[in-house]
Amino acid sequence: MKFLTVKIHKILNNKIFESVSKASDDLNQESYVIGGYVRDLYLERPSQDFDIVTLGSGIDLAEKVAASLKPRPKVTVFKNFGTAHFRFKNIEVEFVGARKESYRSDSRNPIVENGTIEDDQKRRDFTINALALSLNPSDMGTLVDPFNGLEDLKNKIIRTPLDPSITFSDDPLRMMRAIRFAAQLGFEIETKTLQSIAGNKDRIRIVSVERITEELNKIILSPKPSVGFRLLEETGLLGIILPELTQMKGVDVVKGVGHKDNFYHTLEVLDRISPHTDNLWLRWSALLHDIAKPATKRYIEGQGWTFHAHNFLGGKMIPRIFSRMKLPLNDKMKYVQKMVMLHMRPIVLSEEEVSDSAVRRLLFETGDDIDDLMTLCEADITSKNPEKVKRYMKNFTIVRQKLKEIEEKDAVRNFQPPVSGELIMETFGIPPCREVGIIKDAIKEAILEGEIHNDYEEAYRFMLEKAKELNLTPVKGAD
Ligand code: ATP
Repeated sequence: MKFLTVKIHKILNNKIFESVSKASDDLNQESYVIGGYVRDLYLERPSQDFDIVTLGSGIDLAEKVAASLKPRPKVTVFKNFGTAHFRFKNIEVEFVGARKESYRSDSRNPIVENGTIEDDQKRRDFTINALALSLNPSDMGTLVDPFNGLEDLKNKIIRTPLDPSITFSDDPLRMMRAIRFAAQLGFEIETKTLQSIAGNKDRIRIVSVERITEELNKIILSPKPSVGFRLLEETGLLGIILPELTQMKGVDVVKGVGHKDNFYHTLEVLDRISPHTDNLWLRWSALLHDIAKPATKRYIEGQGWTFHAHNFLGGKMIPRIFSRMKLPLNDKMKYVQKMVMLHMRPIVLSEEEVSDSAVRRLLFETGDDIDDLMTLCEADITSKNPEKVKRYMKNFTIVRQKLKEIEEKDAVRNFQPPVSGELIMETFGIPPCREVGIIKDAIKEAILEGEIHNDYEEAYRFMLEKAKELNLTPVKGAD
């Protein structure tokens, strides 16, 4: 076993580590901080998660450490797993006894026995996640690195500590994690490790959808998500977890005319939007905005390739995809659906003379999400023709300016009808009925068309006129 001695001052000075060191000594058991915290320490990424592994009982150690801290944190014990956890000043501290794991082929849940520190490091997913720093008084801060994780960290390499086919077959979630770390950290997956992911791809089916989606979300939120999606596609995992995306790959050619590859276009849009937003759902919208292009693709003589109504069909596909991926089926899904359905509107708007009523309608339909929609549309301009890009961007500036002017004037962003249904019923002495709806809709339309302002007086007068056409007269006393 190879030991590299690296003294980490932060370790020596940290209250929790000092306390673990003292408690381990008292219990006569060796302890180490291991995994993500150590990796991130070398990468100089802030980390609030300490994973402590000890040669003995993790639960006893957690109790003893907690007792020595002020204020004393409350320890949560997971007896079945032999782990314990507490939170101290925003830091999550997890304790586990060092263990040796063996797996059966049909489950991610291993058979666990007590083990040495090296056994524990062997069960880790990647060499960069298997680094441990000693918390023992005799050699506090010494790095325990049996798999050359530090070297891989320096060379930006993701590699499994054991033969990758064992690591991935034991727990196939690790394949998603490898790709997620590659995307998050900008690392490369070592060739044998990558080949093994491709070879084991079908084992991803034994992993719960929630865990897969959790990793996918982290890939989507990484600085350059295309890195992760290219790897998912190359290894064949994408075809299993999100086949709608792989179906976008490829170019059809009819009579020498091809369309763009919608898969790579999508990845470009996702990369382009990422510097502008960390909103996971806006990034999902970018990923899915053209999802219905394969289903709507037609070659029309004289016109070329068309993807008629792909935005509407795309919007309809969202609930099924969200449900299958166990993504939230609430307002987040509705937001993505809205973005997908409306993603063509600003482009269409900017191609024509930008009319006030078209802008008002767009504001009405998007509400507060208008800025996000504009961000998506700007990211969607991936043309290689600089003249075209310039024209679109210039038009978008005009659309944004117009949006601002109209919103200041007419306040339709969060449209509230200036005349309520109650008032219509009271004024004409009618119960809830079709006519109330007709009048309310007519008022809304008149505002969106710019015939009247979004204002009580004007809307009230308009209501009286409209009601006359419906043979309604105000009841006495109503004004
Ligand atoms: P992040 O906090 O960004 O998710 P992390 O590496 O800290 O990254 P955790 O999921 O908290 O991730 O895992 C902590 C450590 O546990 C890892 O660094 C790794 O050593 C180990 N680990 C986590 N999941 C697995 C797994 N599926 N297989 C093997 N080891 C794992």
